[in-house]
Amino acid sequence: MASGPPPTSAVPVARTGSCLCRAVKYEVTGEPVTIRVCHCGNCKKATGAAFMTNGFFKESQVRILAGEDMLKFYADPGTASGTPLNRYFCGNCGSNVFLRSQIKVLNGKKNDLHIVALGTLDEVAEWKPNTEIFKEQKTHFVTGIEVQTRNPKL
Ligand SMILES: [Zn+2]
Ligand SMILES: [Zn+2]
Repeated sequence: MASGPPPTSAVPVARTGSCLCRAVKYEVTGEPVTIRVCHCGNCKKATGAAFMTNGFFKESQVRILAGEDMLKFYADPGTASGTPLNRYFCGNCGSNVFLRSQIKVLNGKKNDLHIVALGTLDEVAEWKPNTEIFKEQKTHFVTGIEVQTRNPKL
């Protein structure tokens, strides 16, 4: 049997992220299940930005390396999707870092999606968003977002 190192493309890449004050540090391994640019009003309020870029990962892909005790969350009851969402932020600097749906079961399976605010990645990833959501709330000057469609199941 010939053996050797697996092709580099098969090795999941680990990427790190952190909040603004670097108290909260995390690592995501591998590719996101999907990336959604969210134009909803609540994401704008939560971040103060024109939109959020949310990376959906499996729980097993996300590891908190530091500052888990610094994370606070706001249980957002009035989301545009109607699904209550916990918005996790650093209690020191206020950066929005993670989002978790309060829905525990999704399509008959345990909902283990862990959403990462991709603006908190330490280095820009080559990923492109897969979809834009709540476009009707899009800020007028936000144009030309390059979307790469994939994972039609999500
Ligand atoms: Zn912080
Ligand atoms: Zn949103």
